[in-house]
Amino acid sequence: MAKNDREELTGLLGCPVDENPTGAVMEAAYRALGLPFRYVTMLVRPEGLAAAVAGLRAMHYRGVNLTIPHKVAVLPLLDALSPAAQITGAVNNVTFEDGVARGENTDGKGLLRSLRQHGADPRGKRLTVLGAGGAARAIAVECALAGAESVAVVNRDPGRGEELARLVNERTSAKARYVRWEGTAPVPEGTELLINATSVGLYPDASRPDVDYGGILPGMVACDAVFSPPDTAFLKAAAARGARTIDGLGMLVNQAAHNFTLWTGREAPEEVMEKALRAEFGLA
Ligand code: NDP
Repeated sequence: MAKNDREELTGLLGCPVDENPTGAVMEAAYRALGLPFRYVTMLVRPEGLAAAVAGLRAMHYRGVNLTIPHKVAVLPLLDALSPAAQITGAVNNVTFEDGVARGENTDGKGLLRSLRQHGADPRGKRLTVLGAGGAARAIAVECALAGAESVAVVNRDPGRGEELARLVNERTSAKARYVRWEGTAPVPEGTELLINATSVGLYPDASRPDVDYGGILPGMVACDAVFSPPDTAFLKAAAARGARTIDGLGMLVNQAAHNFTLWTGREAPEEVMEKALRAEFGLA
């Protein structure tokens, strides 16, 4: 058989993108399985996105991730969308296959898998999501699609909060409502799963979201989307109230693992990926 030196190309488009750790994680995973894949981190400004996607098609890229500010802007450049991408209106993964560019949102799927790995499947559960930005939308929609009983969206900006509750109500079978966040955010009574999807606590910010921590009860599960540092002030405060906690590294590793499988068709070496991610963050 003829020797094949061509590599399968994958990567990340973003702006800024210089300090994104995904490249190290994906390259470690490809190496671990001996796959001829590469992951290239690319600076693409908003005005260059259409040309960049045309270039990816021309160069037969297998797939890419998208980060700020491209997750919504990329939609009109794609041929097909997964249900989660369609509902959230945001794409962080594109897979090219037979000339078709298909958009997916793996952020929510990463969180969902992380919850399940910790024995906290949202099916039939009452969920509270703090925040209504991109991560919160992906999380709320994916957990609702996975059978959550209800989703309370607690957000400072009522427009964004109401919009997310409306999306979940109209497009999934979960019951959703918007809860006002003025000053201190309430933890709605009956919450079983509390997820911080605000950006509060992301390095170098060491603060915690202004939440009524007295409303967190033993037996509740508290989960953070913030992954750097993994031991956020939010999780420490929730643990002090007796909640079981799940950090944001699991969501990050699992969404990367999902991307890996979409592009390679192989099961991801998750331990290798987590180790590479921890090394990127200087963690043990
Ligand atoms: P967005 O900018 O889209 O949304 C930010 C959200 O945080 C908004 O709802 C905003 O509320 C809220 N917020 C910001 N500051 C405060 C504050 N001081 N008090 C209360 N609410 C606040 O960000 P993303 O959704 O993209 O990201 C959110 C977090 O999730 C980030 O830390 C990101 O790193 C993390 N993330 C983690 C992933 C993982 O794999 N672990 C994947 C993707 C994201 P308002 O609407 O009122 O302004």
